[in-house]
Amino acid sequence: MKAAVFYGIKDVRMEEIEIPKIGSSEVLVRMKAALTCGTDRKMYLRGHPLFKPPFVFGHEFAGDIVKVGDRVKNFKEGMRVVAQILLPVIDVFTVR
Ligand SMILES: [Zn+2]
Repeated sequence: MKAAVFYGIKDVRMEEIEIPKIGSSEVLVRMKAALTCGTDRKMYLRGHPLFKPPFVFGHEFAGDIVKVGDRVKNFKEGMRVVAQILLPVIDVFTVR
């Protein structure tokens, strides 16, 4: 899958990465749309004290659930979802 990977200030690269394995309480989302917000811009220009590069860049997206962990109760494959953009999403992966 392709992902925007942050390596440092003003250094974001589109790369092929492995599709992540999900935990029992997680879902895997195939992204259909992604946004760039003010936080992304600030992080691109200044970095972020809580995130150590390299990491997959971005946290605002919508898509379809393609895999569901064993302990997930309220989501199913095929559901359309949008990320909660008012809280930080630490592990975000994109699937193409
Ligand atoms: Zn944002």
